[in-house]
Parts: sequence; C-alpha cells; structure tokens
Amino acid sequence: DVADIPAVPEWLPDHLRADGIESLYPPQGQAVEAGVTEGENLVASVPTASGKTLVATLAMLASVERGGKALYIVPLRALASEKREEFEQFEQYGLDVGVSTGNYESEGGWLATKDIVVATSEKVDSLVRNDAPWLDDLTCVVSDEVHLVDDGQRGPTLEVTLAKLRQLNPDLQTVALSATIGNAEALAEWLDAALVDSDWRPIDLKKGVHYGQALHLEDGSQSELPVRNSEKPTAAIVRDTLEDEGSTLVFVNSRRNAEAAAGRLASTVEPHLTADERDQLAEVADEIREVSDTDTSDDLAEAVEGGAAFHHAGLASGHRSLVEEAFRDRLVKVVSATPTLAAGVNTPSRRVVVRDWRRYDGTAGGMQPLSVLEVHQMMGRAGRPGLDPYGEALLIANSHDELDELFERYVWADPEPVESKLAAEPALRTHILATVASGFANSREGLLEFLEGTLYASQTTERGRLERVMDDMIEYLERNEFMERDGGDLAATSLGHTVSRLYLDPMSAAEIIDGLRAWQRGDGRARADDGASAADRPAADAPAEGEEPPGFTTASDLAADAEDDEETERPDPTAMGLYHLVARTPDMYELYLRSGDEEEYQMLAFEREAEFLGSMPSEFDPAFEDWLSALKTARMLEDWASEVDEEVVTDRYGVGPGDVRGKVETAQWLLGAAESLAGELGLGLAPAIREARVRAEHGVREELTDLAGVRSVGRKRARRLFDAGIEDRADLREADKSVVLGALRGRERTAETVLENAGHRDPSMDGVDPDESARPDES
Ligand code: ADP
Repeated sequence: DVADIPAVPEWLPDHLRADGIESLYPPQGQAVEAGVTEGENLVASVPTASGKTLVATLAMLASVERGGKALYIVPLRALASEKREEFEQFEQYGLDVGVSTGNYESEGGWLATKDIVVATSEKVDSLVRNDAPWLDDLTCVVSDEVHLVDDGQRGPTLEVTLAKLRQLNPDLQTVALSATIGNAEALAEWLDAALVDSDWRPIDLKKGVHYGQALHLEDGSQSELPVRNSEKPTAAIVRDTLEDEGSTLVFVNSRRNAEAAAGRLASTVEPHLTADERDQLAEVADEIREVSDTDTSDDLAEAVEGGAAFHHAGLASGHRSLVEEAFRDRLVKVVSATPTLAAGVNTPSRRVVVRDWRRYDGTAGGMQPLSVLEVHQMMGRAGRPGLDPYGEALLIANSHDELDELFERYVWADPEPVESKLAAEPALRTHILATVASGFANSREGLLEFLEGTLYASQTTERGRLERVMDDMIEYLERNEFMERDGGDLAATSLGHTVSRLYLDPMSAAEIIDGLRAWQRGDGRARADDGASAADRPAADAPAEGEEPPGFTTASDLAADAEDDEETERPDPTAMGLYHLVARTPDMYELYLRSGDEEEYQMLAFEREAEFLGSMPSEFDPAFEDWLSALKTARMLEDWASEVDEEVVTDRYGVGPGDVRGKVETAQWLLGAAESLAGELGLGLAPAIREARVRAEHGVREELTDLAGVRSVGRKRARRLFDAGIEDRADLREADKSVVLGALRGRERTAETVLENAGHRDPSMDGVDPDESARPDES
C-alpha cells in the first residue's frame, strides 16, 4: 500500500491516491524494499511503461525530504520538458523544479535553488565542466534510459558524467532506470547498486507477426486478419484495429517513410471518422499549419485531417506536441513514427506495428537489422492500462521464411547486453580533456584511475586497450596545445580550458583554429587571387603528406602570423567561409550529398574557393567529399541567412523545418565558440564571426541584424519594416506608429508589441504587456 513507503513526504500517499495509484506495482515494491527511498543505489531494469518514473520520483522526493537535492538526467530534450511537467505537480507542496537543456556554456546558477533539476546528459556534462557549485549539493541522481550508455554517439557522455558526479559526491545516491536488457547485473555492479530486474508489465503484451491473412502470436494462437487486394498489410492492421475502436502506432525506418505512410494511412482512417471528429481534426490541422509554413507542415496537416499523422525528429517541437496530444486524445487514430518516439515519449496505443525491422546504416554499409532492445522498446508502447484489455505488437512478414526469422530474431529473443562505447577515439579525446580541465585528474595515473570508475573499465577484458587509446589521445591533445605534460603531470592549457568549457570536440576546435589562422596568414586566398584554379595548383603547394598532423602549429608559424599582419590588411572572411569552417567540424552533422549533388557542389567549391578558411583538399583526396558535404550545409546556412523562404530552403536541401533549425542552432553554438577562440588567440576576426552568427540566428542579411534582434520581430517583419524606411532599432523607437502599422499589414496588436519591445516611448501604449501577443513570425 502507498501508505507504507518509508521516508517519503507525509503528503505523498494522498497525492498518489488522488492520481489513481493505490498500491505499488511489484517492481516498484521491490525497489522500495531495496531501500530506494532510504538513499540506496538502485538499477531498475523493467519493461517500458511499467512505472519506472514513479520509482525515481519516490527516491527523489525522499532525498529532498531529507534536505537534499535531486538531478534527473534524460536522454532527449523532448523528454526534459515532459518530465518537468510531470514533476511540477509537486510544486504545490513547496518543491521547486527546474529544467536545463540548451546553452552549454553557463553554469546555470539559477538552478542552485531548485529541489529537482531535469537535464540532458550533455547539459549535465557541461555543468560539471563549468564547475557549477551546486553540483556539490546533489544527494540523488537519476539516470533515465541508462541502457543508452550503449549508444556510440552519446553513450560515453552519460557514462563519464555519472562517473564524475559519483566521484564529486561519494555519498550520492544513484538510481538508474533501464529498459529490459541482457546484462542489468553489469550495470548494477558498475554503480554499486541493488538490482530490480523484472519483466512484469501492468498490461499484457502479446507479440506476434502478421503473415498472409493471419496474425501469429507468441502463445501459438492464430487469428484471421485479412488483407484486401489493393491493400498493404499495415493498412489492413490499422483498419482492423479501428473496427475495434483502437489506435495504432506504426514504426518505420526513415522520416520519408513516416511521411509517406501517414499520407497513405489517412485514406484508410478517413472513412471511419465521425463528423465531429472531422471538425476537431480540422482544427488541429489549422494549428499545425500555424507552426510553420512549409511542405512538411502542409503534409502533416493534410494527414491529420484524415485522422493520421507522422512523427519524427525533423518536426518542429510545436508539431510534435500537437501530434502527441491528438493521439492521446484518440482523435488521431494512427501515427507513423521513426524510433525516436519509442525512446520515452509516452504515447501508448492498442496496437504497435514494427513495419521496418531494418534500417539504413552508412557505416555498416546498407540495411542492418534493428537491435532486439530497440524493437522490444517499440513493442512496449502497445496497450493502455485501464483502457485496453491487452496490447498487441506486430511485425510484418512477406514470406514464410521471414515469418520464422522474425519469431527467432525478435519475438522469442532476449535483448542484447549493453556495452560501453567509451573506448572510441572521439569520445575519449573529448572526455580526457574535460576530465583534466575540470580537475578530476591531473596526472596520467589519476586519469587512468578515473577511467577505472567507468562502465568500460568494469566490462573490458582487454585492460591494455583503454590505456593505449588514452595515451594516443593525450598526445593528440598535447600536439594541439590543449594540454601540457610535465613528467607524469597533466594540465589543460588556457586554450584547452576554453575548448572544454565551450563543449567542443577538441578536433572541432583544432579545425576552427587552423582555419582562422590560415585566413590570418592569407593561405589559399592568395592563390585564388592569382587567378589560378585549384586544378592547376602546383603540387608543391599542397602540404606534404605525413609532415604535420592537422592542428599542429609551431612557434615559427605564430611568428610568421605576426609578420604577415604588419604587411597587409586582411579582408574579413565571408559568412559562407565561416559557415563552411564550422560545417566541416565533427560537431556539425553534415547534410548528405545526393546523387547529382556532387557535380553541383564541386563547381560551387571552385567558384567560391577564395572564401574558404584553409586550403581545399584536391579532388583526388578522400577528404574532398566531406568538404563538399560541408559546403552543402554551409550553403543552406547562407540561404537561410539571406532571407530565402524557409519552404524554399527545406525543398532545396530535402530536409524538414526542424532540420533547418537544428543546423542553425548548431552553427550558432559553433560560431560563438569560434568567436571565443579568435578572441583568445588574438586573431581579430571576432566581429566578422559575430555577424555571421547573428545572421544565421535570425535568418537575415547584414542590414537587418539589429532590427531582427527586437523581440517578436523576426526575419519577415524586419524586412517589411526595413522596406518601409525603418532601418534599425533606433529608427523603430522613433517611428511613427502608422508607418509601423502599414509595414506590418495593419495588425494593430502586433505593431504595438513590436514598438513596445523596441522601447518606443508612446504614452498611449502604457500598460501593454509585451508578452501577451505576437510570436516572432515565421509565416
Ligand atoms: P516507464 O517510465 O516505466 O515507461 P511510466 O512511469 O511512464 O513508465 O508509467 C506508465 C504509467 O503507469 C503512468 O501513466 C503512471 O502514472 C502509471 N503508474 C505507475 N505506477 C503505477 C501504480 N503503482 N499504479 C497505477 N498506475 C501506475
């Protein structure tokens, strides 16, 4: 019973009962028995939707009750806001909840007063690097979806962050929540934690495979599910579920497939909708169109009008929440999604269809099967407790052999064990610098000792490997002047501290520094000024292979820089040049070159060679293709910063509006970092970098940067104001209201807000609340 949980606040039992929670689920009970409310470490490996969050909540509330402070680490930003909303229900009892996601450079001082902080692992890592003092006060840390330590991209950050928090605070309680995995005991051992390893679920899940005209379930049963002649199996399943008033979640392997499937499934759903549902769906569709004026937005709205939707990471967050809400309200009957949705966002449905069990993987070459863990997590979204009798999760087979294979591979299979990915070079490079810079280790031995506290060390049988990669990375960091070695002692240089605080991959920092210095020296450009094209560049001009690794700068180079500076005045780099510089760092996820792109970008590369910072690799160099991909990304940023319509940009580059914004955000961060590095190195390029950054931020040309910075103005309104003769913030402050009104097409409320935000002193405007209307326009 909820009244018997020790050490939690007095008000909690009543609060839980009011929420319909009378007694604990069995795994929750086991967690309490293991002492999770009394400060004990715990790993809970439990299926999706089986009440893991409550286990964490109990631990956090009990910890705060004892005067402590709790941190909840989430793997995705989208989950941070969901969790914050969930924990905000405790604010009525005097608890303070904060969320921290973006802005990697700050120490988040305002979080010091919060009782519960929700943050992504990257954010926590950066808080540690920036020495946020309140981290010392933490008494409880929760790691949600801790099985993601297995993820090659982001796993190492989570792993190292947990190790650091635990080293900072030896008494820190660690609660790690995991999907069911093959080796939960390894995680428990790593974290010195008690283990609850359970496959209990609050609602039955039946896994199975659809083949031919029937469903084959894991219990051996078969039931008819006929597919009509003109129909795909997925549509047949959706129709069958609808006839039983249920909803379906369909997982596919790419964004494009998600969009296409939603379009097709809308025609399956549409005939089943009531008039009332159609009206409500039309309203949701309107809201979707308001979020952004793009093809994606239109396609989504159109699907929603038919009772279907798609969901993927390329959607704007406004789109995502509208879709999730309409699905939970059972208005939208089917959502086709990429696996991001499976990773936590709470949208259960009667049936789940895992339509694609292979996904394209560039590094492995071709289509690769999904992991059992991933497929089981998607399947776990089936069945809504209290609403459905049970959930059904289905794969689709196209042949009898495939039917057998899918049963073997997924239905009967156990999830894989989780393995640390820390030994990968980019991860170690980044984390070794951060660990030394933030004082967790100041010698080779100390570093090794710290790394011994990671999951990797607890799992590896090949002890020497970690040490070897570590030594290589120390050498790399030394060579690039990020770290210094004195005997056995290690210290970060001032540049190294900056790189770590800026949250850059050291290799990105080296690329940026090299590019900026090359520009300062006048490399590359001089050649282009000669009128010589890259093709007839003398071979001697290319850097001799194997001579100097990238990022290496000698004292004589620096002296040469200084001499050069006296001789000539360097022009500023262009926005394109700077966008390309940051686009080719490993911190920017580049756009792929599609077939046919290569020729186009090759021409563009030669046309604009004079603008690049650093010299372009020759066409025969394997690095050339990366250079071109970065150029595609850079030109997208340049288009955006030249006021090209969002819709035209998404079309031209074959991406969603969320992607454009994602790239812009990354570019803003990297350009901000480049600005700091230029300042630190005394390179004098900071103003040009700042301008490129602000143009990207607002998506405007140079002359609008001031105006577009006024709150609720945005790129389109700024252009209209400018065309009406209002050229900057100062003009706007003095402007005639009627002129502003004219420029903003007679929208009274918008005009007033804009004027107020610019600091316009008009007595008739007293009392207008600037927050009350007019978001920045994107439409
Ligand atoms: P998980 O984090 O394991 O995916 P959640 O914590 O989101 O699962 O729980 C799924 C749902 O179960 C939530 O809506 C939650 O309110 C509900 N729930 C959790 N514990 C209980 C309980 N003991 N009794 C009834 N409902 C519960």
